[in-house]
Amino acid sequence: MNPLYANLPTTIFEKMSALARETGAINLGQGFPDAGWPRDVLEAGARALTEGYNQYPPMPGIPELRQAIADHYRRHQAVDLDWQSEITVTSGATEALAASVMALVSPGDEVLLIQPMYDAYLPMVRQAGGVPKLIRLEPPEWRLTEAALAEAFSPRTRVVLLNNPLNPTATMFSEGELALLARFVVEHDAVVISDEVWEHVVFDGRAHSPIMAQPGMRERTVKIGSGGKIFSLTGWKVGWMCAAPRLMHALARAHQFLTFTTPPNLQTAIAYGLGKDDGYFTAMRADFARSRDRLASGLDAAGWKTLPSAGTYFLSVDLAASGIALDDVSFCDRLAREGDVVAIPVSAFYAEAPVTSVVRFCFAKTDATIDAALERMAKAR
Ligand code: PMP
Ligand code: GLN
Repeated sequence: MNPLYANLPTTIFEKMSALARETGAINLGQGFPDAGWPRDVLEAGARALTEGYNQYPPMPGIPELRQAIADHYRRHQAVDLDWQSEITVTSGATEALAASVMALVSPGDEVLLIQPMYDAYLPMVRQAGGVPKLIRLEPPEWRLTEAALAEAFSPRTRVVLLNNPLNPTATMFSEGELALLARFVVEHDAVVISDEVWEHVVFDGRAHSPIMAQPGMRERTVKIGSGGKIFSLTGWKVGWMCAAPRLMHALARAHQFLTFTTPPNLQTAIAYGLGKDDGYFTAMRADFARSRDRLASGLDAAGWKTLPSAGTYFLSVDLAASGIALDDVSFCDRLAREGDVVAIPVSAFYAEAPVTSVVRFCFAKTDATIDAALERMAKAR
């Protein structure tokens, strides 16, 4: 057995969802919306399923989807991609991450990881033989500084794994932070694997800024997206990776022996969805922002100290500032068992020196679910 995987604990998302199933608690842990799915996208998928889109599609993804991704990014982010040579469809962003790490990290390469980080990153980097170099962000601002980058980069730095907007902090890196990071990447002749699955879930008039658009980064970025996130259909696992042909050549070789392909009916539906007009995306953001505000104002009114949420499905509570002496893991455990609400301890997103006083809640829920959770949270103080 490979001890790296044999010794891994179950991912926090599955662990906390299992706890919710076991205790009957309201699940504000794992990030998935419990309503608001676009009916027309579902119907497009169902139609494709019954109309014959069920055999192996082309390995890089169906042309309609690759074209739709290129059109979509041109329209929404002013990023120009050649659909034939620069886009590969994957089984979720997770496969795109795995393929990127497999293809770009060689044993001994230093890989920069920014904590808190999505829990899948580190095992992938280790399995590839990469040497993780960790940068630590701290609440409440979670900002990336020049000093931290200067300390982390070395002549052996080959890859940076970036997540923007950032799960679990619900922050977005500023133009200044992205420009700074890009400067270091170019100077060190490195590449960025940029996990942008939350690119459409941003609030209060903010616009997502792809690091690929920074000077010198067009040829040095793998931009990763997720149809599941964009259309609130997290179980669909239709993702993609976009990169210049030089990088895509290797990424596509990794993809061909990971999954080879992704269900064609779901690809057809996501291609349809990406073509929806701007109104759909604006309304989706407004709906999530309303849910965010509902949860935040309810928590604030009950005396919980919440941190701002600029994007993602998430909102955090600072336990220490809320007068709770427990660490995040003990608090989440107690909350699940006594308060009947499940949340995610943010320390699970750190490999070392964890922040232990912040807890993440998912607000992508119906008003009734949010209100029921708030009632229970008021009693948990
Ligand atoms: N990266 C981040 C930062 C995520 O939050 C998630 C899931 N929410 C993923 C990747 C995985 O995306 P997918 O379900 O498309 O594999
Ligand atoms: N990305 C989701 C979250 O942050 C979870 C995905 C998963 O369960 N693997 O909650």
